[in-house]
Amino acid sequence: MRRGHPWVYESSVRNQSGPGAAGDLAVVYDRHDRFLALGLWDPDSPLRLRVLHVGRPVRCDVDWWRGRLRLALERRRPWFDEATTGFRWIHGESDGWPGLVLDRYGSTLVLKIYSPVWLPRVSDLVVWLREELGPDRIVLRLSRNSQSAAAVAGYRDGQNLHGEDVAERVTFLESGLRFESEVVKGQKTGFFLDQRENRRRVETLSSGQEVLNVFSFSGGFSLYAARGGAGRVVDVDISSHALAQARRNFALNTEVASVKRAVHEQVQADAFDWLSARPSRRFGLVILDPPSLAKSEAERAGAIEAYRRLVRCGLDWVQPGGVLLAASCSAHVSSDEFYGTVREVLLGAGRPAEEFLTEGHPQDHAATFREAEYLKAIYWRLRG
Ligand code: SAH
Repeated sequence: MRRGHPWVYESSVRNQSGPGAAGDLAVVYDRHDRFLALGLWDPDSPLRLRVLHVGRPVRCDVDWWRGRLRLALERRRPWFDEATTGFRWIHGESDGWPGLVLDRYGSTLVLKIYSPVWLPRVSDLVVWLREELGPDRIVLRLSRNSQSAAAVAGYRDGQNLHGEDVAERVTFLESGLRFESEVVKGQKTGFFLDQRENRRRVETLSSGQEVLNVFSFSGGFSLYAARGGAGRVVDVDISSHALAQARRNFALNTEVASVKRAVHEQVQADAFDWLSARPSRRFGLVILDPPSLAKSEAERAGAIEAYRRLVRCGLDWVQPGGVLLAASCSAHVSSDEFYGTVREVLLGAGRPAEEFLTEGHPQDHAATFREAEYLKAIYWRLRG
């Protein structure tokens, strides 16, 4: 805790003064009975305490909470202008809000709760968020493990906490491109905000290229590639729902001449099968951004093997001079393991190639401790 780790496991609690309910404020004392930290108590989870504060005792009152909220908001204001109205206001532990995420999509806020410890504070949060940010709507999203406790407290996933009953999809801007986010039912909070920097990079690599976007979801990378001047963009995704969303996102941006000009094609397929076939054509840029392939530590080795396979197959689709971008959002696969795997494949592929970039978390998703680090991307240029 003193070095900033935000979790205390059940097995580390030596003594407790009472049973405590989920979300109670817990005070942690060290072995000499001195105040050490303040956190949110979860008696039903092995992750027993989520740290809010370490150091000198503080009064954890409304002013304290609002001060903490303002800190996260003020930090981000300089990073975004009116061309980007979708980004993360609060990124959990790393912002001092353990187990809580707040995303902005235009005038809609999505509050996502990953632990029942926040349920007793939802109504306070709504008041503070309305005062600080004045959103038109606030949508509540719940992780699976907090849904039953939420039901008891009268909350459900996708519910509107403030404002007009929300449409299932809202639109917002990212770098001047218009996207929709499925805030009520979509994965995470409806869009993968965390890939913004890689999307921007893709735009700069796409001029005059044919681009293959594998695991394309709602077409985020595809749209940046198109705006960057790609002649053709091909989405591959297993989900017809995701492909339809990508088509809608293209339709939202037809006033951008280069987007309108680009040929946009889609393939509905299992990417692992599809990529392993003999390439029908080769691309100047191939993007591999699969879903998390390791949901637990036990799946780590299998995930690394799956990345190896993906990169090996994906490589065949890159034309000489082209770029391969491989990304991973598996927290259980470290950046060293992921980069190591990709490098091994590339160096063993028998094609001259060079690595030119690795990319981690964007500013609004900064990770302050090891378990929070999940996002990594690596770029290689194939010379032959
Ligand atoms: N690259 C996207 C995020 C990817 S999310 C972005 O930047 O927005 C993962 C996507 O992979 C989802 O759209 C999901 O439908 C798709 N997917 C999952 N398993 C797949 C498979 N085996 N083959 C193809 N697509 C798959």
